[in-house]
This record gives sequence, C-alpha cells and structure tokens, in this order.
Amino acid sequence: MIYTLPQLPYAHDALEPRMSKETIEYHYGKHLQTYIDNLNRLTEGTPFSEVPLETLILTATGPVFNNAAQVWNHTFFFNTLTPAPEPMPLELKDYLIRDFGSVETFKEKFKKAAIEIFGSGWAWLAQDPSGRLHIIQESNAGNPLRAGYKPLMTIDVWEHAYYIDYRNKRAAYVDSCWDLIDWKKVTERLHEPSPAARVADLSEETIVVGKASKEEVKEMIEETIEEDEEASMQRYVCIICGWVYDPEEGDPEGGIAPGTPFEDLPDDWTCPACGVGKEHFEPER
Ligand code: MN
Repeated sequence: MIYTLPQLPYAHDALEPRMSKETIEYHYGKHLQTYIDNLNRLTEGTPFSEVPLETLILTATGPVFNNAAQVWNHTFFFNTLTPAPEPMPLELKDYLIRDFGSVETFKEKFKKAAIEIFGSGWAWLAQDPSGRLHIIQESNAGNPLRAGYKPLMTIDVWEHAYYIDYRNKRAAYVDSCWDLIDWKKVTERLHEPSPAARVADLSEETIVVGKASKEEVKEMIEETIEEDEEASMQRYVCIICGWVYDPEEGDPEGGIAPGTPFEDLPDDWTCPACGVGKEHFEPER
C-alpha cells in the first residue's frame, strides 16, 4: 500500500462560510498531503508500507508515528465534517446525556477541552471498551486508539486548522465546527468495530502480502525507527542566506532547545539570520 490522499466527500468550498475554500486547500491539499508524502518517504521499501495505518499508530514511534497518525487523524476529521448536517440522532443524545448529563454540557466540556490543549493537538470524543464516552485531549499527533479507545469524533486544534478563517480565535473556530459535524456518522461509529481491530491484520496473512515474516517486520520497524532517529539529527541549510540549523545546538535565542530535530520546529519558526520560513531550508549535503 502506498499511502495516497483520501477523497474529500464534499467540494472544497462546500463548508463555507464556516470553513473557507482557502482553509480546505491548505489544510487538506497541502498539510495532509505533506504528512502523506512524509509517510511514504519514511516507509518506502519496508513492511510499514504494507500495513494498515492503525498498525503504525499502535506500534510506531517518532516520525513514522507522527506522520501516520496525522494522516489518520486528518482523514477521520475531514470525514466527520459535512456541508449538510442533520439533527443529532436520539441514540447519540442518550449516550451524551448518560455520560455528560446533557448535550449542552457535553458541548461545553468538549469546547473547553479543545481550547485548553496547549499548542497543537486534537480534541476527541471516544468510547472506552465498556461503551462509555469520554472527551480526550491529545497533543501533536496523539490518537486515543493508543489508549484502547474507539474514536467517534474529533476537532483539529492545530493552528493551521483555523488561522486563515479565525486567526488566533480557536474558540470561535470550535463553535463553528458544531455546525459542520456529521452527527449521523458519529452515531454509526458507536456500532462499528474499533479501527484498532484492523491491527489484528498484522497476522501472517498481511505479512505474507508484505513478503516478510513477523520477526522481519519487527526488525524492520526497529531499523526504521533508528534511521528516523539518525535523520532527526540532519542539519538544514537556509537556501536564502546559508545559515545552518544544527539540531544538536537548536536555536536557543529563538526558543528552540538543543536536540530539537528540524522536523519538530514550530511552523512559525524563522531563520535567525535572514527571517525566512522553514520552507526555505534544505537538508545539508
Ligand atoms: Mn490539521
């Protein structure tokens, strides 16, 4: 399996005015595409490229986990939005009333959770194995599958999700998301098996498809993680002014601690010498 950009189930301008065409073009067309490209680059030629994304979410670490989870999370997020939302089904209402007291209380608590995530992340509604619903905050690429929960719904609170339409107003963005959530789909997910069940496919059958034994898969996973760790110490050079970012030194004056890989620099980090953005950097050869 080579990971590809999933189809959006609506037109790029279908969520306007709550979510603009420009936001979709950047968020879906550029950010998600970048995670997919990274994941393909990291997994090419390894059995990682042959397994369901959920396997990577549950077993990988470092850049493989980050990119796999971001592909999964975004696909799930965009599939949770709809230009034609219907009223919340009674069944879901009953669950929310049982576990949060009322639908309104759920929305208040979810909004608070989403607003209070420090930095980038995801707010989730997820179901534990006993059937109870929980609001879960995850940082960066986090996904509740790792804690054994089944995701039902999510709101992306990375700044790139709302900065074009709402600038720094995350709360206004979360409010507008309520009118885009496909509650029917969220309700259907209550009855579907957890996506984690697909990981059971990391059985002989899938591995034969990947042409490797279980032991070989494990070895390749470990090797890939080691390569990622080496790659994370890659130095990057500013193609505009020639300044070199060395992960061992970081950029203390810019608030970047020594040991920070270039990939982990914040999106708004700029070259300390000439001020251009990360996109103007290339790996040093
Ligand atoms: Mn995003």
